[in-house]
Amino acid sequence: MFDKIVIASRGEIALRILRCCKEMGIGTVAVHSSADRDLKHVRLADESVCIGPASSAESYLNIPALISAAEVTDAMAIHPGYGFLAENADFAERVEQSGFAFIGPRPETIRLMGDKVSAIKAMKSSGVPCVPGSDGPLDDDPESSVNMAREIGYPIIVKAAAGGGGRGMRVVHSEAALINAISLTRAEAQAAFGSDVVYMEKYLENPRHIEIQVLADQHGNAIHLAERDCSMQRRHQKVVEEAPAPGITPEVRAEIGGRCAEACRKIGYRGAGTFEFLYENGKFYFIEMNTRIQVEHPVTEMITGVDLIKEQIRIAADERLGYTQDDIIVRGHAFECRLNAEDPKTFIPSPGTISQFHSPGGLGVRVDSHIYNGYCVPPYYDSMIGKLIVHGDSRETAMARMRTALSECVIEGIKTNIPLHQDIFNDAAFQAGGTNIHYLEKKLGL
Ligand code: ADP
Repeated sequence: MFDKIVIASRGEIALRILRCCKEMGIGTVAVHSSADRDLKHVRLADESVCIGPASSAESYLNIPALISAAEVTDAMAIHPGYGFLAENADFAERVEQSGFAFIGPRPETIRLMGDKVSAIKAMKSSGVPCVPGSDGPLDDDPESSVNMAREIGYPIIVKAAAGGGGRGMRVVHSEAALINAISLTRAEAQAAFGSDVVYMEKYLENPRHIEIQVLADQHGNAIHLAERDCSMQRRHQKVVEEAPAPGITPEVRAEIGGRCAEACRKIGYRGAGTFEFLYENGKFYFIEMNTRIQVEHPVTEMITGVDLIKEQIRIAADERLGYTQDDIIVRGHAFECRLNAEDPKTFIPSPGTISQFHSPGGLGVRVDSHIYNGYCVPPYYDSMIGKLIVHGDSRETAMARMRTALSECVIEGIKTNIPLHQDIFNDAAFQAGGTNIHYLEKKLGL
């Protein structure tokens, strides 16, 4: 096992990783920008290194600074958390070339999955169901694109192979708009991602977002840890997540989860990962794979009892998976609310000093957050200040518990989206379960 790990992230996930390392008896190095000296995990870490100024480009995205932090502290491994460099294959490669373990998949896997066209190809050949589409990049021949779209059937969506963050996509409803849409998406993709490779697939009109968590070790073992429903979104950003997904039976779970685990074995996947699907009319359609730990991982931990960060670290240290598929039993129901420093109506970020913080608590309540009384939320980074997670025997119990927890949570001095979460947990359709990815924006009148 590693004796020291560099935590190459900030905020709640850095604290989550630090807590796990402490539990495992692993030394910790916090790296931070000059604007982040007061982060909770920086204070709790065994060592800390300032890696640059506030701007992420010069600190959390600064590969040489991160590698030298590992060198000067004599660390053995680097955990990238999520965001920043977590899905950057070049970073993973540089980490390994410098003699450190990268706590994540092999660089080749990150590269394979980072290109949506190659990811879909790999998934299709591994038996994972994908959205009907072009099965490869579109060529320059307008006629073949027109024919392809006719065959798939409108509406279709044109997507950039290198796209991410909900950008580089365009929905096309009719043949008249197709050719123009392809050239616009190409131009945008070239400008934003440095590649003009685009492809097309069927546009699903009212899907849910359901994703499968997997773990795979370097000894050929791979398991799935059931699914999460992340359909409550605004601008492709998840707001509330839950596990398991309403209406997914154990048989359906075993079938789709089994396919994902099998795909991991086929591509030689290493570590924790998530297969993201759109789910419509009882069918799953793969859209992309996230090759890192995700913000919403705690809901899976709550229903399975598996510490996903611990497994990530153990796998990176070449240990065998601590679980077989039969060990993974779904118990009860969990929800997560992402707490953001933002106006609950306009969504404008609200950085500043937290004058009062009272954390909710009690049976089945978990707060993953780096905030404390007097902490100043800096304006430079993502506005998420923590996550409120609850677990209960049933979906109803978990919901009631979340309503109580939200009502107990006091954060003063900045605006937060707690009122939005209260609205969501009082919404009849959400209470019934199974709302689609457009539901929240429609409810908000967006
Ligand atoms: P990104 O990497 O930018 O997040 P994704 O491929 O994951 O891109 O797609 C982001 C979102 O775009 C999805 O969550 C979904 O809301 C929408 N989307 C993508 N592909 C389709 C599709 N074929 N049909 C309907 N919606 C889609």
